[in-house]
Amino acid sequence: MTVKFADITADAPDFEALKNHYSAIEQRLAANDTSVVLAAIDQWDKSRRDVQTWQSLTHLRFNQDTRNEAYKQAREHCDELTPRITELDVRIKKKLVASPLRAKLAEQIGAHCFALWESNVTTYDPVIEQDVVAEAKLEAEYNELLAAARLDFRGESLNHEGIDKYKFDGDRDTRYESMKVKWDWFRAHGEKLDDLYDRLVKLRDQMARKLGMDNYIQLGYRRMTRVDYDQHDVERYRAAVRDHVVPVCEEICRRKANTLGIDKTMFWDEAVHRPEGNPVPNGDHDWMIGQAKTMFDRIGYGLGDFFRIMADNGYLDLKNREGKAGGGFCTDLTSYGMPFVFANFNGTVDDVRVFTHEIGHAFQAYSSRDKRLVDYLWPTYDACEIHSMGLEFLTFPFMDLFFGDQAEVFCNDHLISSLMFLPYGVAVDHFQHLIYADPTASAAARHEMWQSVEKIYLPFRDYGDLPYVKDGGRWQLQRHIYLSPFYYIDYTLALACALQLWVRSRQDRGDTMRDYVALCERGGEAPFQQLAASANLVSPFQANALQEVTAEVKKELNI
Ligand code: ZN
Repeated sequence: MTVKFADITADAPDFEALKNHYSAIEQRLAANDTSVVLAAIDQWDKSRRDVQTWQSLTHLRFNQDTRNEAYKQAREHCDELTPRITELDVRIKKKLVASPLRAKLAEQIGAHCFALWESNVTTYDPVIEQDVVAEAKLEAEYNELLAAARLDFRGESLNHEGIDKYKFDGDRDTRYESMKVKWDWFRAHGEKLDDLYDRLVKLRDQMARKLGMDNYIQLGYRRMTRVDYDQHDVERYRAAVRDHVVPVCEEICRRKANTLGIDKTMFWDEAVHRPEGNPVPNGDHDWMIGQAKTMFDRIGYGLGDFFRIMADNGYLDLKNREGKAGGGFCTDLTSYGMPFVFANFNGTVDDVRVFTHEIGHAFQAYSSRDKRLVDYLWPTYDACEIHSMGLEFLTFPFMDLFFGDQAEVFCNDHLISSLMFLPYGVAVDHFQHLIYADPTASAAARHEMWQSVEKIYLPFRDYGDLPYVKDGGRWQLQRHIYLSPFYYIDYTLALACALQLWVRSRQDRGDTMRDYVALCERGGEAPFQQLAASANLVSPFQANALQEVTAEVKKELNI
């Protein structure tokens, strides 16, 4: 019987009791007996699941209602306690990494966890405890600032998610004017946004130096636990996107101008693909849930039962409402073996993406919930996004359930948006490398850095006279830049893999679905490139990987 979300509780740990429990575990880890050490690892794992459940629930509740004082205080307490708990975990990881029994332990629990722990132990030391707390506070400030925005547009009072629906509108003036309102808000809050980012960048740089690293780039990679590729691989990959994908995107923009009957594809035209605007789902939230149930039943491979468990037990919160934090994400209530999907429906194609993207994450987390180690429940983010973006493409044949006779239009649009996303994604990544290599740069210099990467990867973009974005402010909307440095490249790496799933599913659907489900079940038991290879996907770091998928997309779109 699945526990209802409403019945889930997770009390904040009593830090002193947890510390004593960890000391007892630590002593057992010193035993010269593999079975004793393994039993201690299992005990540690149980504690970590409980702590993670509490962390997830605390952050989730706050995101569901950012105006609730009690939730806010609970989140602040969580943010303060988290580094101290990390310190306890790091102590145990250090012991395990140096254990004389390591080889024998790896036979039982796999070698990958040791690689992850080796990376983890270098990212935390008590000397940065206060910095980590301060970082979480600044991140929360950014979230609250954006969530509190009220944008007045044609008689409506909207938040950022709410106004975004107009970027898909068929009427060009509506698109332009809604964006003007949005970017006017950013202009009005630009100083605050610059200041928040400046404090975050300097803080992160300081943490890296305290940990003995040159700058935050190194620490950022380690925090992302990248164990099988480095900055140079990423740099070559960005160059491949520039060489093979950017020209196709330029062509897409030229063709779009023709389709829309306009001189040039401007920033406010990028999200629409035809004069009448993009297809919208044929119904509201409740209808969509019903359609999603039908879709997942038809797909099979366990997805139907899984989606019902989520929907019928309260593990979806998809409606946009005042005070709710923006964005969409999937989190995990680890001790209960249940994921949770959070989103903000706005009546656009993005809502369908929630069912395909976030449910992909959730299905993976659910499929790997019985892994022995909490480290193996989720893969690193690069691999994580294969499950989510992969499902976006694997649901293509069922899109008539949401879009009726516009399904094919939706799928083509989605392919175009996916391809257009790659250059943007690597631009965000390149920008962050520039930022953290020069942490004392002024706000103006940072805006120039953004413009310099736009020139490389987004040469087709024209902001016209839109406020703020025309002067290099577009990046401040990208929450990952504030909240999850160096995360962004992962989406593009995963997309390069997910597009391969799309190509293969059209050749052999059964085989591809089996590979997909097996990949979900593996969770995070191996690093990115190994996971990709196990699902018969070519690593995006291999020469020509991008050329091949790009060629397929071009063929499909008759480019
Ligand atoms: Zn995702």
